[in-house]
Amino acid sequence: MNLTEAEGKALFREYGIPTPQGTVISSTKEIPAALKKITTSHVIIKAQVTSGGRGKAGGVVSAYKNKRDAVDYAVSTMLASTIKGCKVQQVLLENALDIKQELYLSMAIDRAARSYVLVFSKKGGVDIEGLAATATKTIVNLPFVKLTDPILHKAFRNLAYQTQLSAIAKKMERLLKEKDALLVEINPLALTCTGKRAAPRLVAADAKIVIDDNALYRQPWISEEKGLTPLEQDAKQHGLHYVEMDGTIAVIGNGAGMVMATLDMISSFGGKPANFLDLRGGTGEKTMKDAMRICLAKKGVKGLLITIFAGITHCDEIAKGIADSSKKRKINIPIVVRMIGTNQKEGRRILEKMNIHTLDSTEEAVKKIVGLVKK
Ligand code: GDP
Ligand code: MN
Repeated sequence: MNLTEAEGKALFREYGIPTPQGTVISSTKEIPAALKKITTSHVIIKAQVTSGGRGKAGGVVSAYKNKRDAVDYAVSTMLASTIKGCKVQQVLLENALDIKQELYLSMAIDRAARSYVLVFSKKGGVDIEGLAATATKTIVNLPFVKLTDPILHKAFRNLAYQTQLSAIAKKMERLLKEKDALLVEINPLALTCTGKRAAPRLVAADAKIVIDDNALYRQPWISEEKGLTPLEQDAKQHGLHYVEMDGTIAVIGNGAGMVMATLDMISSFGGKPANFLDLRGGTGEKTMKDAMRICLAKKGVKGLLITIFAGITHCDEIAKGIADSSKKRKINIPIVVRMIGTNQKEGRRILEKMNIHTLDSTEEAVKKIVGLVKK
């Protein structure tokens, strides 16, 4: 799971890694309160999307703190924009840094090497990828299991700000391990000037943190709903397992394995799944109604395929749920049902009364829905 910059910086603060003071807002109304906390002449306005490269895509803007028009314009433009496919819903307003040099520092899990890896470069910033391709000599790449002094020395030797770098690296190491991160990246790690005589200070101007999804169960600070679409959240709250894709056929089934096989079959017959919902065992009428409500709310759905293998589940109850939903929701897209097992006859009778196609074989059902959607 990718954290936003602001979430990453909150973790940095927790671990004592220096960050600029800032506030996250989601509407222009919150600008005055956020600006009150800005103590620099400029404010940096940053779109909170998890894709990188915001700087080059208009997602990082600097404005005079006292020019309210300029700040309002930048924030409202950003909140109305989409960066690399992500709708901008939050903006970070931050103290501007006086950056003398941009460094790069990251730590990640290197699965192949079965270790962590520290990557450091004196030349960080928005062009790091280009740099990595051309000037590998300026990039330090060190595997580690535990960051020891010799490793830190090797990474940062001969640098005036070596001590600060080592201190930040040790904090990053703790964060990486304690929070089950796959990546903790600071780019740029800014060498800043705070005053004429003051020594330069390193500050994390950006934060990119990826948390291992397999470890979410032991990272209770991450809300389980984070990263889910509204429909996925809705499903989760109803105890249903729902996943979104970008095709046109909605799929409801009981049993993850069967649903997966059905998705493959849809693709092989030339269709594209829009989403899938796994009802699991022992499902009744009410669950079926929730399932239909959620699956059909997805934009772009042109057909619904329901595939039920009923053991402890009863076909007639499923059928009642389908029939009731289609009556109430005035569904005007084709529905194909493949339903076998307990109370199958009764279930089919209910559906046939509603003119809903039922079939025995999954293959036939898939072919049918793919054909109907294509019409
Ligand atoms: P990214 O492009 O998504 O990685 O966004 P960053 O947060 O890394 O910002 C991109 C670039 O904006 C940085 O490399 C800096 O050059 C610049 N930038 C970001 N924050 C500040 C700041 O506070 N002061 C100055 N002068 N530049 C900044
Ligand atoms: Mn960056």
